[in-house]
Amino acid sequence: MDETPRLAVDRMLMRLARWLRLLGADVIADASVTGADLLRIARADNRILVTRDKRLRTASDVFFVETNSIRSQLRDAVRRFDLDPRAIVLTRCSRCNTVLTTIARELVSRRVPPYVFASHERFAECGGCGRLYWHETHPARMHAMLDSIAF
Ligand SMILES: [Zn+2]
Repeated sequence: MDETPRLAVDRMLMRLARWLRLLGADVIADASVTGADLLRIARADNRILVTRDKRLRTASDVFFVETNSIRSQLRDAVRRFDLDPRAIVLTRCSRCNTVLTTIARELVSRRVPPYVFASHERFAECGGCGRLYWHETHPARMHAMLDSIAF
C-alpha cells in the first residue's frame, strides 16, 4: 500500500468504518450527515465515499457497497482499496479516526489490566477519545474475523 486510502463512510456502514481504520485507512464517518451532503464533504476533503445509498451508486468518487454482510463488505473494500487484511496496524483510533500517539509505558499502569501492563512494552493513546491501544487489543477475535474471509 503506497498511499493511505482516504474514505468517508456513510452511517449504514459504521462497523465497516472501524475495520478499515484498523487496516490503516483514514476514514471519516459522521452519522448526522448523509447522502449528497456526505458526498460533498467527501469530495471537498479528497475522499472516496463508501456508501449503501443507491441514489449515489453511479456518482463518481463513490464506492457502492453491494451487501449487508460485514464479511463481504470488508472483502470488497480490501480489494478495492488495496489494503492488507493480514496487517492490523493500529495507527488510527478505530472509534474516532484520530492518529494514535505513543504513550510512555509508566503512564498507563493504572489504566490497563495488570496482565496487559505486564505483558506489553508499547502502548498508544488516542488524543481524540482517550482510548488506549496495545498491540493485542483484540487479537483472537479480530484475527478470527479476518481469517474467516476469503480475500
Ligand atoms: Zn479515539
